[in-house]
Amino acid sequence: MKVLVAVKRVVDYKVQIRVKADQSGVETENVKMSVNPPDENAIEEAVKLKEQGLAQETLAVTIGDDKAQDVLRTSLAMGIDRSILVKSPNSLEPLAVAKTLSKIIEKENPDLVLLGKQAIDDDSNQTGQILSALLNWPQACFISDLKIEGNKLFLSREIDEGIEKLETNLPAVLTCDLRLNTPRFASLPNIMKAKKKPLDIIDISTLGIDTNPKIKVLKVEEPPKRKAGIMVNDVKELVEKLKYEAKVI
Ligand code: AMP
Repeated sequence: MKVLVAVKRVVDYKVQIRVKADQSGVETENVKMSVNPPDENAIEEAVKLKEQGLAQETLAVTIGDDKAQDVLRTSLAMGIDRSILVKSPNSLEPLAVAKTLSKIIEKENPDLVLLGKQAIDDDSNQTGQILSALLNWPQACFISDLKIEGNKLFLSREIDEGIEKLETNLPAVLTCDLRLNTPRFASLPNIMKAKKKPLDIIDISTLGIDTNPKIKVLKVEEPPKRKAGIMVNDVKELVEKLKYEAKVI
């Protein structure tokens, strides 16, 4: 089995986000960038499948500018075998990302494609779903457990009512939840070894796909500042304030 993992470079989740002065987006210059957190779960799962002897080859793919090589090096240091940067001068919408991934999948022929459930920068939660439609492969989103027996996948996903159990066949597209596993830290020797692992670069213009944005961002604003709270002495006072001052009950 060959496993392909889609990895996005995003502003690190610990960074305090700043909106650009012209309100065209968020500041990414001189800001710590990292692997999108659920994509680390996807990487971890792929590496575990290789360690269990279920996968013969693991491949990480990112679409981004030259700097996005760093998330591929991290993926390789965590145990992925080889990687591809699809170089794009602009950041792409989920539809264009899914089209790009489908072109790479055509060439690479993986049996299983793992993505994060959501990118923490755009919060779109769309790429895996669009990709499965483009490929006409089964999909399971937000998986929190995965077992593979032969060609069959046994999956769990957390839903409002509890845990949903699903069964499907390879090839498939899965998007990973943070509960799926605990991503490993890349050790120093593995970071050194990762420098020698393959990182191929493909220019997005060679793939012959339309990557033009379909959505126009009008402006990005900071959320309104929260007002200071007040302390109440007991439940009675709280209920009175909610009833007569805030008028919400
Ligand atoms: P989204 O639909 O934007 O919330 O992203 C969902 C998942 O798609 C991410 O967790 C990644 O696995 C994948 N993805 C999104 N954008 C990219 C990108 N530029 N390069 C590689 N993978 C991506």
